[in-house]
Amino acid sequence: MSDYGDGAKVLLCHISVVRMTVHYRSCNLCEASCGLQITVENNRILDIRGDVKDPMSQGYVCPKGIALADLHEDPDRLRQPLRKRSDSEWEPIEWDEAFDLVAERLLEVRRRHGDDSIGMYLGNPITHGWAPVTLIPLLLKALRTRHRYSAASVDQQPQHLLSYLLFGSPLLLPVPDIDRTAHLLVIGANPMVSNGSIMTAPDMRRRLRALRERGGRLVVIDPRRTETADLADEHHFIEPGTDVLLLAAMVHTLFAENLTRLGKAGAYVDGVDSIRAMVEPFSPDAVASRTGIDADTIRRIARDFATAPSAAAYARLGVCQTEFGTTAYWLVHVLNILTGRLDSKGGWMFALPAFDLPVIGAKTTDLIGYDRWRSRVKGLPEFAAEFPSITLADEILTPGEGQVRALILYAGNPVLTVPDGRRMDRALDDLEFCVSVDFYLNESNRHADVILPPTAVLEREEFDVVFGAVSVHNHVRFGEQILEAGPDTRSDAQILLELLWRIDADRVGQRRARIAHAVRTKFFPRRFVDAALRVGPWGVRKGRRGLSLAKIRKAPHGMDLGPLQSVLPQRLMTSDRRIQLDHPVVLADWSRVRALLTSEEERVSFLLIGRRHLRSNNSWMHNYPRLLSGTNRCTLFMHPEDADRGGHSTGSEVTISSGIGEIDAEVYVTDAIKPGVVSLPHGWGHSGRASAGRTAQTTGGSSVNDITDATRFDPLSGNAAVTGLPVHIRAR
Ligand code: SF4
Repeated sequence: MSDYGDGAKVLLCHISVVRMTVHYRSCNLCEASCGLQITVENNRILDIRGDVKDPMSQGYVCPKGIALADLHEDPDRLRQPLRKRSDSEWEPIEWDEAFDLVAERLLEVRRRHGDDSIGMYLGNPITHGWAPVTLIPLLLKALRTRHRYSAASVDQQPQHLLSYLLFGSPLLLPVPDIDRTAHLLVIGANPMVSNGSIMTAPDMRRRLRALRERGGRLVVIDPRRTETADLADEHHFIEPGTDVLLLAAMVHTLFAENLTRLGKAGAYVDGVDSIRAMVEPFSPDAVASRTGIDADTIRRIARDFATAPSAAAYARLGVCQTEFGTTAYWLVHVLNILTGRLDSKGGWMFALPAFDLPVIGAKTTDLIGYDRWRSRVKGLPEFAAEFPSITLADEILTPGEGQVRALILYAGNPVLTVPDGRRMDRALDDLEFCVSVDFYLNESNRHADVILPPTAVLEREEFDVVFGAVSVHNHVRFGEQILEAGPDTRSDAQILLELLWRIDADRVGQRRARIAHAVRTKFFPRRFVDAALRVGPWGVRKGRRGLSLAKIRKAPHGMDLGPLQSVLPQRLMTSDRRIQLDHPVVLADWSRVRALLTSEEERVSFLLIGRRHLRSNNSWMHNYPRLLSGTNRCTLFMHPEDADRGGHSTGSEVTISSGIGEIDAEVYVTDAIKPGVVSLPHGWGHSGRASAGRTAQTTGGSSVNDITDATRFDPLSGNAAVTGLPVHIRAR
C-alpha cells in the first residue's frame, strides 16, 4: 500500500493524463500513406494504431507502421554527423564542421575534375519527404552534374518513360480505379503486400474483398501464387520475362475478335491501326508454349477483360524488371486504352492531386525529356535527367573525362539495391569522396567519408507531395510533428539548405549565397507547398475558397476529395494534347519483341524472381525485433518437383549461382511457385557487412543483388532486368 493518500493518487493520475497526447498523421514509410493514431507520453510513443477516421485507410495499419515506435527508440539510429577515421572507425562531429567539410571536399573534386565528377544517387525514401522532393532539384542544379541516379531505374522507370511518351509527363501515372472496377487484371504485381505500388491504396485486402463482394472479378498472372493470387478468382502461372508475349497475344485477340472499343479516348488517341499490324504475329497459339499459358486461356482472359462492364489492367515489378520492361508495360496501356478503360470510371484513371506534382515537376525541374544526352561509358539515354543505376558503377570505375569521383548518397543503399552489388561495393570504395544523408550506417554508406543523419519521420512535419498523384481516391492530409527532435539534430530541409548555399557560394560568392539561403529557408518546403496548393487543381479559383496548407492542417484525419474523376484530354501534357499510342520510341524496339517470339527457348536450370514481405521495407527496417520475429524471410522458394529432383527440402541450404557470383540461401519448398522458377526477396544480406544496426547484422540471408547482372536491362528505359535471372542451384 502506498503512503500517499487518495488526493495524491488523483493528482499523479492527472499529471499522467496531461502528459499523454493523441496525434493523427499519416505513415510515410511506404506509398500507402495509412492514417495513424499515435499516443505519446513524455516524448515517447506509447501506442500506434490505425486512424479509423482516415478516409483512405479507415483504421488499417501494417506491422511496419507500428514499428515506427522502434525506429524512434532505436539506439543504432544515427543522430549526429559522423566522420570516417578509418575503415571501421567513425567519430561524431559538429553539424557546421560537417557541412563545411562536405562542401569543401565536393567543390575540391569539382575544381580538379569538372562538373560531372560529382554524382548523386537517390533512394526510394526521398519520395516520402516534402523537403527532399522540393529541395534536391535545387541542389542538383547547383551541382551542375549529369550524373544523377536513383532507385527508380531499378523497378519503375518503364512506367515513367511511358507516361512521358504517351501522356507528356513522367509523373502522369494512371492507376486502376480499384474501388469501382468490375474486373481487375493484375500482372506481375502483389498489391496485397505492397498495399499498392505506384498506386496508393492502403488496406488492399478490404479493397479486393469489396471487389469480389460487388460481383467483380480478380485475375492474377504471376510465376508465384502470391498473397494477391490467394484472393483471386483465377491465377495463372507465367514463365518469367514473357509478359510481353502474353500481353501482345491479348491485344492480338482484341483485334481478332473485334473487341476494341476506345470509347471517348477515340477522340484523342492516334496510331491504333499500326498496333494491329504489330501484334499480328503474336497469336495466342504462337505465345502459349513460351508463356506457359494455353492459347484458349489467353483468349478467354482477353475476352473477359474486354467485355467486363468496367476493367483495369495493373502491372508492376514482374513486368518492369525485365529486358522488355517498356514494351511490356506499353502493352498494359494498349490493353487498357483499346478496351475503353482509359479515364473511365472503374478503369485506368488519373488522380487529381492537391499538390499537382506532374505540373509542378514540369515547371520547376528538368525531368521532362528523354535521350537529350547519353551516359559516358555505356551510351545509355538519360531519362528525366537521370542515367540508369545499372551503369553507376561503370561511371565510377571507368577513367576518363566525366568520371564520377565524388558521390552524394541520399537515403540510398545501392550495394543492396542495384544489380551486381559487389561491383557497386568496389566502385564506392574507389571514390575520392562520398557523403551520405541517412540515419543508419548501411552497406553502401560505410564507404562514405561523412554521414549526415536527418531527423526521423515523426520528428518533423510532413506533407505528401508525391503519392497524391497515384492515389486510387483523391485525398489530402498534413502530418504534424509529433516528437521533439533533440536540440542538436537537423531535418532534411536544414541539411539540404545548408549544403545548397555552400555549393552555391562557389558560383555567386558568400554574400549572395547567404541572402539566397535566407530566402529559401523561409520558403521551403512549407511556403512552397502552400503556394502550389493554392494554384493547384483544388486551390482557390473562380471566386471559390480552395485548399491551402492552413485549411488542410485543420483536418487532422485528412480530407476526402472524392473518387477519381475524368480528366482527359485536358490533363494531357503532350504538346498537342493527344496520345500517340504507336510511339516511335516503342516501335523502334519492336523488332526485339518479334525476335523473342521466334528465338529458340534457352535451356536454363532455374529462373530467379524476387518477392516482398509486409514486414520488410526494401533494404531497411531490418533492425527492429518486432518486424523480424518468426521464421527466416530470406528463403528460396522452390517447387516440390524441383526440390525432389535436386534432393532439397525445406530448411536445407543451397548455393545459387549466376554468371555474376554465388550466394547461399535456405530452401522453402512450396507449390505456390511455378516449377523451374525460384524466388528470393531483395534487400537482405546485412551480416558480414557494415549494416543497418546490430539486430540487422544477425538476420542472416543473402543479398540477391550479389548475383543479379547489371548487363541485363531494358534498353529503352535502362531499367534493371532482375526478374527471370537464369541461375543454377546446388546443395551446400
Ligand atoms: S502499409 Fe504499412 S508501411 Fe505502408 S503506409 Fe501503411 S502502415 Fe505505413
